[in-house]
Amino acid sequence: MSDTDGKKPLGLGGGAGKRPGQVKQSFSHGRTNTVVVETKRKRVVVPKPGTAGGAAGGGSASHLGDPSKRPAGISDAEMERRLAALRAAKAREAEDTARRAEEERQREEDRQRRREEIEAKEREEREREAAIKARQEEEERQARAEAEAKAAAAAQRKADILGTKSRAQIQREQEEARAAAEAAKPAAKSREAAPAAPATEEEARGAAKQPATTVSPRKTDREREERDRDRGAKGKGDDGRRSGKLTLTAALDGEGGRTRSLAAMKRKQEKARNKAMGFGQKAEKQARDVQLPETIVVSELANRMAERAADVVKALMKMGMMVNMNQTIDADTAEIIIEDFGHRAVRVSDSDVEQVIDTVEDKAEDLESRPPIVTIMGHVDHGKTSLLDAIRKANVVSGEAGGITQHIGAYQVKTPNGSLVSFLDTPGHAAFTSMRARGAQVTDIVILVVAADDAVMPQTIEAIAHAKAAKVPMIVAINKCDKPDANPQKVRTDLLQHEVVVEAMSGDVQDVEVSAKTGKGLNDLLEAIALQAEILELKANPNRPAMGAVIEAKLDVGRGPVATVLVQNGTLKRGDIFVVGEKWGKVRALINDKGETVTEAGPSVPVEVLGLNGTPEAGDVLNVVSTEAQAREIADYREQAAKDKRAAAGAATTLEQLMAKAKADADVAELPVLVKADVQGSAEAIVQALEKIGNDEVRVRVLHYGVGAITDTDVGLAEASNAPIIGFNVRANATARNAAQQKGVEIRYYSIIYDLIDDIKSAASGLLKAEVRENFIGYAQIKEVFRITGAGNVAGCIVTEGVARRSAGVRLLRDNVVIHEGTLKTLKRFKDEVKEVQSGQECGMAFERYEDIRAGDVIEIFEREEVQRSLA
Ligand code: GDP
Repeated sequence: MSDTDGKKPLGLGGGAGKRPGQVKQSFSHGRTNTVVVETKRKRVVVPKPGTAGGAAGGGSASHLGDPSKRPAGISDAEMERRLAALRAAKAREAEDTARRAEEERQREEDRQRRREEIEAKEREEREREAAIKARQEEEERQARAEAEAKAAAAAQRKADILGTKSRAQIQREQEEARAAAEAAKPAAKSREAAPAAPATEEEARGAAKQPATTVSPRKTDREREERDRDRGAKGKGDDGRRSGKLTLTAALDGEGGRTRSLAAMKRKQEKARNKAMGFGQKAEKQARDVQLPETIVVSELANRMAERAADVVKALMKMGMMVNMNQTIDADTAEIIIEDFGHRAVRVSDSDVEQVIDTVEDKAEDLESRPPIVTIMGHVDHGKTSLLDAIRKANVVSGEAGGITQHIGAYQVKTPNGSLVSFLDTPGHAAFTSMRARGAQVTDIVILVVAADDAVMPQTIEAIAHAKAAKVPMIVAINKCDKPDANPQKVRTDLLQHEVVVEAMSGDVQDVEVSAKTGKGLNDLLEAIALQAEILELKANPNRPAMGAVIEAKLDVGRGPVATVLVQNGTLKRGDIFVVGEKWGKVRALINDKGETVTEAGPSVPVEVLGLNGTPEAGDVLNVVSTEAQAREIADYREQAAKDKRAAAGAATTLEQLMAKAKADADVAELPVLVKADVQGSAEAIVQALEKIGNDEVRVRVLHYGVGAITDTDVGLAEASNAPIIGFNVRANATARNAAQQKGVEIRYYSIIYDLIDDIKSAASGLLKAEVRENFIGYAQIKEVFRITGAGNVAGCIVTEGVARRSAGVRLLRDNVVIHEGTLKTLKRFKDEVKEVQSGQECGMAFERYEDIRAGDVIEIFEREEVQRSLA
């Protein structure tokens, strides 16, 4: 602030006219300062008439030449000189005046020219604004057209999805819409660029305006000269700054004004458009075919009609239906609305959306043989896991590149004769059945593992039943043949009882003696598989959109949802758009069982698929579709259908059902739990095992199960139902941990399924009502009954058996019939109150609130004991 000199010119405007020597400065942020400046006045010398030596005076030169009027003491020569000087001065003056007049004229011309320039600019400006406006209107029109085109395209796409239009047609329409959008873009761009231009022009105008406004004709030439000098000294900076300042203000004003006017214009257009889009515009509206499923969300209905949701809601309200745009209405109501709006309703079934999934039968010539998919089943501890490992390891040793295998739920091996076999490495029946329950029959061949040192066991029988139910051929692998007590023959004969006749018993089921431990017979097993596959003539068409089944799915921390898919037909490629169960996605990456990234996976190849929008479930079927919209629509439809199904299952509809449910609920104590596991297979196995726990009185209810870390949503759910959370090979995230601590939700971690089941079993046992057992501790015979005032009837007895205890329960038996049960008021031995009276001794007993006692009655003395039970 102190260097006023430097800043002085900043704000001369205000101060200049006020007081000489004081200048008011204005700085940025509105601060001002008044400073005193030294002003140097130009001395103007005006010679007074009669004053000697007034060279530049206003006196006439003629009288100076007159010696009579000449001041005394001035010589002629002197006079001459003075006259000459006077003439020269006069001439100069005349010259000066002429120059000044000339300058003035030029300035005037200048001003005129600038005025004209400004006017021209303003005219130009106005024209340009008009042009912008026109352009904008044009653009609006285009945008509207584009929106309509888009809506039409969307409607057509839906039509296509619902099977009424060819895909090519849609694509064409979409392309048209896109082209329209492209055409609209340059216009938008030029408009964006437009505001920049006026700014510079504004500047120019400001700069042009400035001299015209600041140069006042009243100002003296000298002042002007001074200013010009000043400006010269400060150089362009001053000019630039001043014009900058002016320009800024002008620009702000100008811009503000324009923006305001543009905004106003936009608002106006918006209003007009809204009005046009409403009911008023029926005339130019096109009637559409609106696909109408059984139920529809109001906003979606509006979307399909290309109407505003608010208008649809309004129309519904007029019909007396108070709904919002997110609510679902039935098809009948929707149809009335559609007709109200002047469209046509086309009723479709919801499930029609699934029709886009390519279900064309493959032609025989397109089919190529594919590797068999094998599942290993058998009783626990008969060596399923060992066998899978042994086969995999043998395969790795036999020269597969990489060598490191990944557990992705399945793997492929090469048999000695070079053919491929795909193994599902999630042994057990749960996976097999739950996948089958979901409609995914993945397995071509079941290997039934039976330990040669054991026999056919319950789960062996179960496995046989599953394989038969699924009509999947079996190969019997008689395992542990390395053991000294191995008896393969016994296994064969045992199997006969279950209608499995192996080849050795002249049946048609192949049997192979193997040892997972020594590796014996593994190649024979692979060969048997290859042979069986040959018989099955397994074929697929690799040249079509892929179809496959999820065999495992998990939520990976780094990679997001990951599903292992076994391709069953076609070829799954990177970039494919697919729907899988209630989820959908676009293949971001494919990773094979060796952990290698591959670009595609053909029939019978297991691959990890990345790029899903959520974790699907094992057994979900994957289908490649052509567009994301289709995938999303199908997934949404399935999700809704599943939700409805769950809701229907959960809601008891009739009163009887409700009552039955309430009764059942009242009788059975439930242990609610939440299960989170690392993989879908484990989660399902745990749930199935848990649901088996319990009896008529107690049961475990799995509120929810899923794959992935324990989140605070899980904790919330658990809290609401007072349930513990079971984490199998997963952990709670930090927020969930905190939430659990706050809400007192128990989280238990397990990595061994048996431990988990045992714990839950004992927890469920805790819910069993304790059994109350009665122990008879003694009997007493009443000999006499005394009536004692204040104490009532007192029995004089003899303890015949055991002990009489004061705290115990008593029953009064008359002729072996219980006529009263209660407690003792007193137990006396002679006159003293005692706690216990032994057998053979006499005592006095009185009942609490019971008087009807007679000689000859028997008193039974018992104690109750609560016995905690446990689930078997
Ligand atoms: P699973 O429960 O059916 O998966 O059975 P496992 O693969 O876990 O095997 C159970 C037990 O049997 C393990 O201790 C294995 O070491 C053992 N085992 C499996 N196969 C063989 C075999 O061929 N020979 C011998 N001696 N032991 C085996």
